[in-house]
Amino acid sequence: MQRPRRFVLKSILALLFAILSAAAFWFGLVPQRLSPFAPLSLDEPSAWFVDLRLAALRRDKPLCNAVLKAPHIVAHGIDDFTTDKGCGWSNGVRVSQIAGADLPIGQITCEMAAALALWLEYEVQPLAASMLGTTVTRVRQMGSYACRNIIGNRSFRNVRSQHAGANALDIGGFSLADGRTISIVRDWGRARAESRFLEAIHQRSCRYFRVSLSPNFNAAHRDHFHFDRGPLWRCR
Ligand SMILES: [Zn+2]
Repeated sequence: MQRPRRFVLKSILALLFAILSAAAFWFGLVPQRLSPFAPLSLDEPSAWFVDLRLAALRRDKPLCNAVLKAPHIVAHGIDDFTTDKGCGWSNGVRVSQIAGADLPIGQITCEMAAALALWLEYEVQPLAASMLGTTVTRVRQMGSYACRNIIGNRSFRNVRSQHAGANALDIGGFSLADGRTISIVRDWGRARAESRFLEAIHQRSCRYFRVSLSPNFNAAHRDHFHFDRGPLWRCR
């Protein structure tokens, strides 16, 4: 009677340990020096465990400074900021360019900036070249930091948006080197090359962002992509 009981107890403890370890990596609580994964590098197009390696940037300013490098991204660290309303950011950066495209952002988390760099450099620019025969010169962003709750979903209306932590970015469209512009509100879901491009880059974004919403999600997103690196997981 003793042995099976001890076996069950050991199994439960092992399972608990596995769940807690996974959660620690998920929430970026494991310092890089204790991590079995190599530090993220923007030189690498398709890194293994890219999500967990992005999460490792969350609380690590020196790692952030080492990772966010030209020519992939032009970014500078900014001071942490908190408000008494539960808003603000930690380990944030100011961004001016990513993957050769102008993308001015006043404040965004380092983790988000790295995810944007990987997506733009290794998915968006190559797809612009192969599907549209040009490059993206400007990303039209529609906001990162905003001290507010989630909008467009009644059951989450009392929950702080990831925008309240500068851990999200809304993107409304792109300017291309050949003079064209692409707008999500105008081009999403149509039968043209620009629309297929938008669909393809949205699909590829889900690898880097935990939440990646398009106009398919709800009416509140009819004119932009919403990307964030919060605790939820949604690709739609
Ligand atoms: Zn948003």
